[in-house]
Amino acid sequence: MTEPVVSLARHGDMAVLTIANPPVNALSKAVVAGLAEAVLAFEADRSFAGLLVHCTGRTFVAGGDIGSFDDPAFSAAPYNRTLARIEAQDRPVVATLHGTVLGGGLELALACHARVALPGTQFGLPEVKLGLLPGSLGTQRLPRAVGVRQALDMISTGRSLDAEAARDAGIVDAVRAGDPLAVGLAYLGELQARGEGVRRLSAQPVPDEGLPADFFAQALQAAAQRKPFHPAARSIVLAVQAAATRPFADGEATEARLFEQLRVSPESQALRHLFFAERQAARIPGLPRDTALRPVRRVGILGAGTMGGGIAMNFANVGLPVTLVEASAEALARGLGIIRRNYEASAAKGRMTSAQVDERMALLHGTLDDTALADCDLVIEAVFEDMALKQQVCARLGAVCRPGAIIATNTSTLDVDVLAEATGRPADVVGLHFFSPANVMRLLEVVRGARTAPDVLATAMQLARTIRKVAVVSGVCYGFIGNRMAEVYMREAEFLLMEGASPSQVDGAVEALGMAMGPCRMLDMAGIDVGARTVIEYGKAGGLPPDDSYRAMVRRLYELGRFGQKTGAGYYRYQGRTPVDDPEVARIAAELAAAHGIARRTDIGAPEIVERLLYPLINEGVRILEEGIAYRPGDIDIVWTAGYGFPDHLGGPMWWADALGLATVADRLTFYGRTRGDRFGYWRVAPLLSELVRSGRRLSDGLPG
Ligand code: NAD
Repeated sequence: MTEPVVSLARHGDMAVLTIANPPVNALSKAVVAGLAEAVLAFEADRSFAGLLVHCTGRTFVAGGDIGSFDDPAFSAAPYNRTLARIEAQDRPVVATLHGTVLGGGLELALACHARVALPGTQFGLPEVKLGLLPGSLGTQRLPRAVGVRQALDMISTGRSLDAEAARDAGIVDAVRAGDPLAVGLAYLGELQARGEGVRRLSAQPVPDEGLPADFFAQALQAAAQRKPFHPAARSIVLAVQAAATRPFADGEATEARLFEQLRVSPESQALRHLFFAERQAARIPGLPRDTALRPVRRVGILGAGTMGGGIAMNFANVGLPVTLVEASAEALARGLGIIRRNYEASAAKGRMTSAQVDERMALLHGTLDDTALADCDLVIEAVFEDMALKQQVCARLGAVCRPGAIIATNTSTLDVDVLAEATGRPADVVGLHFFSPANVMRLLEVVRGARTAPDVLATAMQLARTIRKVAVVSGVCYGFIGNRMAEVYMREAEFLLMEGASPSQVDGAVEALGMAMGPCRMLDMAGIDVGARTVIEYGKAGGLPPDDSYRAMVRRLYELGRFGQKTGAGYYRYQGRTPVDDPEVARIAAELAAAHGIARRTDIGAPEIVERLLYPLINEGVRILEEGIAYRPGDIDIVWTAGYGFPDHLGGPMWWADALGLATVADRLTFYGRTRGDRFGYWRVAPLLSELVRSGRRLSDGLPG
């Protein structure tokens, strides 16, 4: 017989309610039902003096069952009724807390009369990250425990507090070391001995903090400004306002109404999709979960430039020693100097101590001698983006690295299979495409070569977790998933400029949709030189369409030395860091339009800009799926939200395409093909997209075959 997930047992004259639902005691249907039953059993047995709520395993209840929010019949009411029943008991109820007390777990704890926590416990209400608010009275009980300001901060940001901070704030009554059960029973015994214990947050007023009269009006305004695309931000303020200004029952009704609105909102659905997509991305079809990994205890990096330095920091940050190899002493000193300055800037902001700066620097061993890579378990090359150089470097790594060591390339565009062959040991080779700045950006594209060994791939995915990146597997193609899609986006941005739109018009249209940065600002920041060289190299390799006007803007700006933000001019001119439209760029655009026979127009509106930038991008994403470069639509959504600032409230380009309607996307592509001409196949609808439209399916229904 299997153990029940919730049980009630006697310890002397105390009842102990135990939740045992590994791995994190999430609120499954069975837990919710078991909890209700156990509370009734306690209530019925008057021989108990008090109740302890406790969880086995590594944590107290760490949250709800996020999948259940998609169930049209979902209701928080049964759980909330049980929490109300717990709070209504006339004998003391104590929660003993350890691990991560999050979401519905914290709401359960707040319904108890007192809370004791082990050191190291984390507390939070992270629902906002899924576009929701806490729906089990967290917005009502937390302000009563900690006050409006602190509650609003925690619920709006989803930030966690540690045990001591939670005690200081008023979430827990005591922090005690030991075993959760023993600590809880002792605490409950103390309360009983003192004749204390029954204390119901719902019956307490919200503490008077002397808030200004317009506090909530200001908070609403701040929420709308900070998170204009996330309705949860506003709803959270309204729910906390109800807690502060209305009787508990009214607040409860307000929270329930707002929660339900958010649960069915497209924004929350999109964020929940991304939550699951991120977990799914870690699973590689055909790769057993128990694939034995290759040990990685020391990492080598070749090239300490922009990328190499940032990549090195990732490993030093988690305590892995790094050997950094450069071509010259100057480049090495420069690279190490930049890393140190980066760490010192973090220390200046209070994010680390100066001792930690020294510890991390001590993990970095710089050298000009590449034979020092022989004892590394993973070596990542991050030298200039030049095929001949990289082939030479890879051949050398193939010889220097010990057998079984993984050899990785950080190339953005070059053929990973060609580089793999150059090492002479292609099974050991994988692409690790970091994004700039590599110590900050969460995305890592893991590029699976034709001959990459399964354990190399599995090790790369695990390593990404170790350095806290979200990894997405891409097959080998030009630009992999992200930059390949960015190419069609940039192509249309430039055509729009040549047709007469200004950079701020182009950027503004997609930024109004929620893109973190429009294409012109993005490339100005990444470097026009980097962008142009990539296009030029791709042209030399025969990858470009036979179209002289293709990316003509970036090539001309490059010739003129307008390398973007770093030279004070690119698509924009820069006043400090502020981009302003530059008449010179308008002139260049007009000149190129004339040279390439592109008609100038004055009627380009935001809807056209959005469609022309993003529908081809969706179409390219579908091609990437068709070719098996990406395993699933969700992987593409992760790449674009984590790596390119695509708005998370739209769920990524593939999720958004479903929301728009695939037929609409296909129709508009066809429309632009007809009206703008389609000599080079720019608007050709991907066969898979046509097939999905024909069969009335969505991308999120799963791919045919
Ligand atoms: P970078 O010019 O800043 O750095 C390259 C470094 O490699 C230089 O410091 C150079 O001295 C060193 N180097 C050159 N030959 C070497 C050799 N034989 N041995 C040791 N060191 C050598 O370039 P970067 O921007 O860091 O780009 C590096 C790689 O990362 C490229 O493949 C690029 O495509 C890729 N990448 C760049 C970005 C980006 O945004 N910059 C993003 C993703 C990937």
